[in-house]
Amino acid sequence: MNTALITGITGQDGSYLTELLLEHGCTVHGVVRRTSALSRSRIDHLYSDPAIYGKRLFLHYADLDDPTTLRRVLNKVAPDEIYHLAGQSHVGLSFEIPESTCEMTAMGTLRLLEMIRDLPRPAKLFHPSSSEIFGAPEQSPQDEGTPFKPVNPYGCAKAFATQMVAIYRQTFGLFACNAIMYNHESPRRGENFVTRKICRAAAAIKLGQQSELMLGDTSARRDWGHSRDYVRAFWQMLQQPKADDYVLATGQLHSVQDIVEIAFTTCGLDWRQHVKQDARLLRPAEPQRLLGNAAKAKRVLGWEPQISFRALIEEMTRAELERLAS
Ligand code: GDP
Repeated sequence: MNTALITGITGQDGSYLTELLLEHGCTVHGVVRRTSALSRSRIDHLYSDPAIYGKRLFLHYADLDDPTTLRRVLNKVAPDEIYHLAGQSHVGLSFEIPESTCEMTAMGTLRLLEMIRDLPRPAKLFHPSSSEIFGAPEQSPQDEGTPFKPVNPYGCAKAFATQMVAIYRQTFGLFACNAIMYNHESPRRGENFVTRKICRAAAAIKLGQQSELMLGDTSARRDWGHSRDYVRAFWQMLQQPKADDYVLATGQLHSVQDIVEIAFTTCGLDWRQHVKQDARLLRPAEPQRLLGNAAKAKRVLGWEPQISFRALIEEMTRAELERLAS
């Protein structure tokens, strides 16, 4: 059975992927940063299970800006597969902290590629790229052949990392794959993303804990899927005979306003009485026409999203109702 190493194991995708890999019988090693406020809440249920933690799940302290430690973990664990999910993943925030976004997302990935190249038995690498690499694309929907044209620091850093993964595959023969992913959400999404922010606010308003919700551009549209659907493809990509890049998307666009309506309706509320616009939440630049064509993932991997947009927002809202009521 495979041994997998996950950077960013405590994040949304890392936690769902860990559950999936454990189901597949893999041993999972997670890399966690030693921060003062260590948040392990998304994997707490696994960490506190004595049948899992210390037997098939292990955590290691290391950081991508501390290559020596990471190299040591790689040598010790000798993984068959590496899922490199760590990094600052918020686009809005990347305008505030562009240097550290690029340091983690771009240089962090390059450092990891360099380490893998040096391993006596190079592990397979999964890299989560992003639709933000397309930024302002000339064609819609986008696929694996669409040129990169990022419009924010996050997209730019991801474009660099994506191309490096392809270069290391072509030049050094590494089994390294990019998943070019459109937004994917879940009840485990970070609170600064708009889906979680809206679902949480609707639930808080319902429970009398909040009175209004301030949003930026509610006409902004995205191709939103469920993280649980997406991590299935991560694993499938590394089980193929050949490394390759795949777009993972639902192929459907929805607006921020659609989220508002579903979340507030789920709570039995009228959004018009609670939602207001705050110009400070508008972004300096919005990506245009980001819609994915996942035909290749469907054809080669047999992958298709199974959870609808409505079911996703309803699940997220119900989870917030439960969380806030407890
Ligand atoms: P992103 O696609 O990675 O930037 O994911 P987000 O969830 O942060 O944002 C999705 C879209 O929602 C973007 O077009 C934002 O401009 C828009 N949006 C509108 N209001 C808000 C808000 O209050 N917070 C956030 N995060 N996004 C908002």
